[in-house]
Amino acid sequence: MTNSQYVPDKPKTTVEQFEVERKQMVETQLRDRQIEDQRVLAAMSKVPRHEFLDSWCQDFAYSDRPLPIPHHQTISQPYIVAYMTQAANIAPSDRVLEIGTGCGYQAAILAEIAKQVYSVEIIPQLSQQASQTLSKLGYKNIQFKIGDGYQGWVEHAPYDAIIVTAAPEYIPHALIKQLKINGTMVIPVGKWYQDIVVLTKKENDIVLEKTIPVRFVPMKKKF
Ligand code: SAH
Repeated sequence: MTNSQYVPDKPKTTVEQFEVERKQMVETQLRDRQIEDQRVLAAMSKVPRHEFLDSWCQDFAYSDRPLPIPHHQTISQPYIVAYMTQAANIAPSDRVLEIGTGCGYQAAILAEIAKQVYSVEIIPQLSQQASQTLSKLGYKNIQFKIGDGYQGWVEHAPYDAIIVTAAPEYIPHALIKQLKINGTMVIPVGKWYQDIVVLTKKENDIVLEKTIPVRFVPMKKKF
């Protein structure tokens, strides 16, 4: 018998191990579940999700579940991030608005595939922390605003796509206004349980498609 049985396994938290887990995440949680957009898959393969989490939960970064972030908020399950990004149908030249910066993970995924990302967050500390994480990771095409997502971000409107990552009970009017004609908004709508709604704005009409059921944190009403 050698002593090797007493040598502990390599800690899970090495960069190499995270990379292995990230690859597995893309194969089993995304590709196997009809996430087919190559650019979404490439972004999800690249962005180091663990870097957005507190150290105590980094080991679960690539697991098939939502995770806690500070201030009682959550980062969505990887599949939901991929699903919403794919549904938003983003082109490389697009300017995208995100409501609910949170830890900044979804913003990073968007920044990989869009030209410019504008992200609004109501909790100042989360916005500041996300901005630090994303600049440390080298992202230069994301702008942050501390504010109420119900108002959108009118200065940079109209947007080619809008992704909302907190759940309102109704689709905020300002967001529809700030979407380009033929633009897409992806938004969880509902009170306790929600459905992801994919909204397409037409010249004189709005097309709504109710898709998968989800559970997001509520979109706060007061700033
Ligand atoms: N996209 C995030 C997940 C966000 S969780 C990520 O990748 O980490 C939802 C976020 O929406 C929380 O950070 C919450 O503070 C924020 N939020 C809730 N109500 C809001 C509002 N009215 N305006 C802007 N942000 C809001």
